[in-house]
Amino acid sequence: MINVVKTWEQLEGLQPTVLKMFKNSFLKNRVAHAYLLEGIRGTGKREIALLITKALFCDSPIEGYKPCENCSNCRRINSGNHPDVHIVEPDGASIKVNQIRELQAEFSKKGVESARKIYLLVHADKMSGSAANSLLKFLEEPNSQTVAFLLTEQPQQLLPTILSRCQILSFQPLSPQAMIQHLTENGVNPMKAPLLAQLTNSLDEAYQLNGDDWFAQAQKIVLKLYEVLKKNPLEAMVTLQGDWFSHFKEKEQINRGLDLLLLIIKDLLYIQLDKQEQMVFKAEIERLKPFALQTSGRRLSEQMSAILEAKRKLAANMNPQLMMEELVLNLQEGSSFV
Ligand SMILES: [Zn+2]
Repeated sequence: MINVVKTWEQLEGLQPTVLKMFKNSFLKNRVAHAYLLEGIRGTGKREIALLITKALFCDSPIEGYKPCENCSNCRRINSGNHPDVHIVEPDGASIKVNQIRELQAEFSKKGVESARKIYLLVHADKMSGSAANSLLKFLEEPNSQTVAFLLTEQPQQLLPTILSRCQILSFQPLSPQAMIQHLTENGVNPMKAPLLAQLTNSLDEAYQLNGDDWFAQAQKIVLKLYEVLKKNPLEAMVTLQGDWFSHFKEKEQINRGLDLLLLIIKDLLYIQLDKQEQMVFKAEIERLKPFALQTSGRRLSEQMSAILEAKRKLAANMNPQLMMEELVLNLQEGSSFV
């Protein structure tokens, strides 16, 4: 994970609609008492909640709404020890009623340094029933200076009575372009970012994959399998039994392997179409080029269909061993005629 504090502009690149709305409410001085930030993992919910928290506490916000990042309020929020900012996360599997009660007790006191107090409820959908009822009372009697940010990936799990008291902000999944830009700005190798952006639209997952040894090894094995398939079809079964099955064990892992294989074939199509800039295995261009030149676009489309079919069979719980053997045969079939 990265701990770099992102600027308003960087986060605006991720969620332009959400930040435009906050900008307007700051400038019109109409900040709500409770916001629900909903969207899949890695869309910037927590970072944006903290950005807005800083903007609300900042001693000298830039242009009236962007946190300066330099005053003592901004700095203490960045380091996680501002006395009037509270972050509540699930304690184990759920957010428990006593966590909400502690929060209420805290908020019934005066702010340590100002009247303003802000809390973030991370994974708000994980509140126990009694925690949710307790929070509801809290939301029904808002203190004028209190702002709540409820963060969730599963808004449908929240009580409608809670939802109705929040201003709901939907966080959009990131476009591959926005992902690539964000990843490379934060130190991910530009040769690797396009692949990550194809596999996930969650930044968290992309960073995690980027540092994952299993994933690095997975790419090598998938490339090797494809190479062996083309060079020496008999060896493909050996590679499958050896390298492949010792690395791709769980269903989820096998699925990831099939996605990588699919992306290799897409890259070959891009090479054939002279659109190398669209490739995701950018570092492997010299290795993939000869394959692209040896095969036809029609054959590549057939191979893509075979992989998609294998993914469907995997999802339908076909035995992975049989599914992969069948796939390798299908990928080879006809390869001597192209
Ligand atoms: Zn500041």
